[in-house]
Amino acid sequence: MVERRKPLPVQDAIKKVMQLSYESQIEMLPLAESDGRYLGVDLKSDHDVPPFDRSPYDGFAIRAEDTYESNQENPVRLKVIEEIGAGTVAKKTLKRKEAIRIMTGAPIPNGATAVIMFELVREESSQDSSYIYIKRKVKEGDNISKQGEDAPKGKVLVERGAMITPGVKALLATFGYGLVPVVKKPEVGLFATGTELLDPSDALEPGKIRNSNSPMIEGQIKAAGGSPTYYGVLEDDFEKCYSTVKEALEHVDILITTGGVSVGDYDYLPAIYEKLGATVLFNKIGMRPGSVTTVAEWNGKILFGLSGNPSACFVGFELFVRPILKRALFSKTPHRLKSKAVLQKDFPKPNPFTRFVRSKTEEVDGHIQVIPTGLDKSGSVTSLADANALTVLPGGTRGFKAGDVVDILHLREEGSIQP
Ligand code: AMP
Ligand code: MG
Repeated sequence: MVERRKPLPVQDAIKKVMQLSYESQIEMLPLAESDGRYLGVDLKSDHDVPPFDRSPYDGFAIRAEDTYESNQENPVRLKVIEEIGAGTVAKKTLKRKEAIRIMTGAPIPNGATAVIMFELVREESSQDSSYIYIKRKVKEGDNISKQGEDAPKGKVLVERGAMITPGVKALLATFGYGLVPVVKKPEVGLFATGTELLDPSDALEPGKIRNSNSPMIEGQIKAAGGSPTYYGVLEDDFEKCYSTVKEALEHVDILITTGGVSVGDYDYLPAIYEKLGATVLFNKIGMRPGSVTTVAEWNGKILFGLSGNPSACFVGFELFVRPILKRALFSKTPHRLKSKAVLQKDFPKPNPFTRFVRSKTEEVDGHIQVIPTGLDKSGSVTSLADANALTVLPGGTRGFKAGDVVDILHLREEGSIQP
C-alpha cells in the first residue's frame, strides 16, 4: 500500500530544520590560506592601532610652540639634531628650537608636539650642522597620527562568522594572526540514486540520462561554505544501499541523497531511515517543486533526502540545506535574502502549494523586475542555469499576472570570493 504523507507548510519545515543542533568546530589555518573562509572567533584588537603616536608624512618633528612667533618675514630657525626612519626610535629628546628629521610611520620623538612636511620648510646646511626655516605657525598635534586612533585596544573589529576578505586579512595580520581560527567546513556527503544515471562523461544510452544533480549539489555545497564528498550512485539493492549509507555517515556531518525518496518501487530512502532508526522530521512539504523533500536526524548527523528532479533538488538544497550550512558557519543571515519584485510575465498556473519558480531578475530604474527562466517543471534542468532568484508564489493562489508584485529570494552569493 502506498503510504499517505501529510504535507507540512514550508515555513514550518524550515523552522524544524533550523531547530536541529549542529556543533561547529574551529580549525587553525595559515593566514595565507584563509581567504574566503569564515572567522571562528571575534577578532578583537589586543593593542592600540597604531601602537604609538607616529608621523603620517616625511618631514620634521618639532615643538609647535617654537613656531608661534614665526611668519613670512621672520621665519624661525630650528636645528636638526637627529634623523629617524620608520621602524626606528629617536634617541634624543627635542629641546627648544630643535627638530628631528622624521619619515612616514616613525614614532614621534619625545618632546615633539607636531610634524611639518618637507615641502613647507627650507633646509640649510653648514659644515657640521643643518637647520630648517619655518615661515608659519604650526599647531600642537598637527600631523601626528595618535596612538589608538585607528582602533583602541579591546574593541571587537570583526565578528565571528564574517567571511575572510582581503580587508579582514589585513586586520588579522595587524593583530598577529599568523594562524587564523576559522570555522571548519561542514563535511557533506553526497549520494545519487537511480539506475538510469550515467556519469557526465559517459555516452548517452537508451533510457538513461546523465547525473546532473551531483555536480550541481557539489557546487551548491561549496558556495555555501561546506566541503562536499561525492560517494557515487547507490546500488539497486536495499541491503547494499543501507550499509553504504551507514558507512558514509561515519565520515560526514551531513548526508545528502538525491532521488529515491518518493514512493516508487526503487525508492529505498524511507526504508533506510527506518532501519537506521533515524528521526524523520518530515517527508512531505506543501511546496512545489520538491514536495517529497525529507529531513531526518541520526546520532547528531543530519540527513537530507532531496528529490531527484533537478529543479526540485536545487530548490530543496537552497531552502533546507544551505541555511544549516550557513548557520554552522556562524552566519547571521543563513537564509536567502527576500525582496519584492514586479512579475514580467503571466503565470497562469494555480498554486495549491507554495511555488518556487526559477527566475531571473533585472533592475530597472531602481525597481526589481523578475521573469521565470524556462520550463516550470520540477524535472526541468535548463531553467536552472539562468536563474538568479526564486519567485515565491504562495499556496492557495490562482495564478499571477504580469505587473503583479511578488516575493523573490535572491540566489546571489554575498561576497565575491568563493573558497
Ligand atoms: P526520483 O526522485 O528518484 O524518483 O527521480 C525523479 C526524477 O529525477 C527522475 O526522472 C529521475 O530520472 C531524475 N533524476 C534522479 N536523480 C537524478 C540525477 N542525479 N540527475 C538528474 N536527474 C535525476
Ligand atoms: Mg529514482
